[in-house]
Amino acid sequence: MAQRFDAIIIGAGHNGLVCAAYLARAGLRPLVLERREIVGGAAVTEEIAPGFRASIFSYLMSILHPRIQADLDLRRHGLEVMPCSDMISPLDGDDYILFSDNVARTQASFARFDSRDAAIYPEFDRYLTDTANIFRRLLWETPFDPTRRDWRAFRQMAGFAMRHRRYAGKLFRVADMLTMSAYDFLSEWFRDERIKAVLAYYASIGTFAGPKTPGSAYVIMHHVMGENAGAGGWGFIRGGMGAITQALAASAREKGAEIRTNSPVAEVIVENGRARGVLTQAGERFEAPRVIANASAKTLFLDLVGERHLPDDFVRDVRNIRTFSTAFKMNIAAERPPQYRCLDRIRRDGALGSWDYPTYVHIAPDIDYLERAYDEAKYGRPSSSPFITPVVPTIVDRSLAPEGKHVVNLFGGHAPHTLRDGDWATEKPRFEKTVLDTMDRFAPGFSSDVIASQLLLPQDIERIVALPQGHIFQGELALDQLFFQRPVPHWADYRTPVRGLYLCGASCHPGGGVSGIPGHNAAREVLRDARRRSGMGYAAA
Ligand SMILES: Cc1cc2nc3c(=O)[nH]c(=O)nc-3n(C[C@H](O)[C@H](O)[C@H](O)COP(=O)(O)OP(=O)(O)OC[C@H]3O[C@@H](n4cnc5c(N)ncnc54)[C@H](O)[C@@H]3O)c2cc1C
Repeated sequence: MAQRFDAIIIGAGHNGLVCAAYLARAGLRPLVLERREIVGGAAVTEEIAPGFRASIFSYLMSILHPRIQADLDLRRHGLEVMPCSDMISPLDGDDYILFSDNVARTQASFARFDSRDAAIYPEFDRYLTDTANIFRRLLWETPFDPTRRDWRAFRQMAGFAMRHRRYAGKLFRVADMLTMSAYDFLSEWFRDERIKAVLAYYASIGTFAGPKTPGSAYVIMHHVMGENAGAGGWGFIRGGMGAITQALAASAREKGAEIRTNSPVAEVIVENGRARGVLTQAGERFEAPRVIANASAKTLFLDLVGERHLPDDFVRDVRNIRTFSTAFKMNIAAERPPQYRCLDRIRRDGALGSWDYPTYVHIAPDIDYLERAYDEAKYGRPSSSPFITPVVPTIVDRSLAPEGKHVVNLFGGHAPHTLRDGDWATEKPRFEKTVLDTMDRFAPGFSSDVIASQLLLPQDIERIVALPQGHIFQGELALDQLFFQRPVPHWADYRTPVRGLYLCGASCHPGGGVSGIPGHNAAREVLRDARRRSGMGYAAA
């Protein structure tokens, strides 16, 4: 017999859990069904070797919003954020550039390369912060459909224009961020290619683009929008990224949400154009007046709902969501953290703030390095010199590895989901060597300190966490896939062509990253409809 709930959420990624927690707080009884054996989606901590625990996918907290942390009482449920305020970019030889939250320290570092670039940096920092503030305000919006011509749409657009009218004068800078390449944008400010590479690096993170690709400037913005402590708002989480989703699950459960793992959903039950519930792969039937997918838009519509319930042009738009990924992750159990060539010099210079070791590093010494890594992927080959973000959480959190040992997370690009020639079954060991050789170039001997390693290519990420083509954001962050076009045009308000069926994950505005905002905004729209439908007084999210 079917079991009944007020809402069913497909997937216990962090956004599904945020959505569940807000719905439960508002008085609904949600059920969350997760296909994996653990909650968390791409925000999990798992053992990679005996005694070594790693954030196997996402590795640093960037944009988990303070409002969500406070609303859901995450600190009481165990969330502890440790600031990550300095980033080091090693150069060839023993040189390096520091990029820090502290403007004066960044400026001093830039001054060693170009005094004019250093002089202008504070103005650039103010410009970026000011522009980030515009985008930050949009995070909480439910995107409207600008093509609709009815009164409700007109009211929504007018309301939007009123709320953001103070920023109208800054329209051109928004247009710049959305359309320019990271390189062109940064070249309006800086001269030195190494300094530009420090800032352009963010544009390539999780994105199939190079710093010279039009539109890549926005991805820099997406990565500096965080409002937490740390460079651009970044932070380590005690216990790894899984501690965020454990805290979210505890918060949701405390208010009455039920969460079941090992429960893959096989089908959304649709009758007369309305979602009625779900069937799991094990054949269980759960019913609810609303079904909300944290699973990606492609998974929901193409696998779980089925084309027969959807308009043809909508299905075409869903198929066309660009999810082709080139991002890889390598989790390493190591004897020692990487011993960068520049380490002695960094220490001599007293360049580091909180720790005596650069916990957060970008390997991409100049713009050409980033662009060449992309060029190879563009033609279907893995990068022969990938850009890499090595992060060593065990410097700040000893709970993750045995005494004296370390966990090293390497995130980078590009390793195309599908190769033009050959396949990953044969190429994977070769690419693993390429990654370690690249590390050895900047941190000699690192490869011989590896105790165990886990290389996750886009196909592995797709298999483990059900992200189509392994895309870390459930879809590219590009102008044609943002705001009222995310996940697809006309359906960006978390609702779908099936009544009672919603999306709440990174496929929706404002996109990927561990922010919780899609989950929050979706809960708000679900509650709005619930109030309209039943007149019940559910509290607002
Ligand atoms: C390798 C990697 C590195 C990253 N690094 C960072 C980082 O450092 N910082 C950062 O902020 N962001 C990072 N990200 C991005 C960020 O982790 C994601 O954008 C974010 O976690 C997405 O959360 P979500 O809840 O929307 O979806 P997901 O985390 O994708 O969760 C969706 C959930 O739905 C479940 N599911 C799917 N289909 C079904 C089904 N049929 N039945 C039941 N359950 C189902 C999945 O198993 C999964 O648990 C990274 C991502 C990856 C993959």
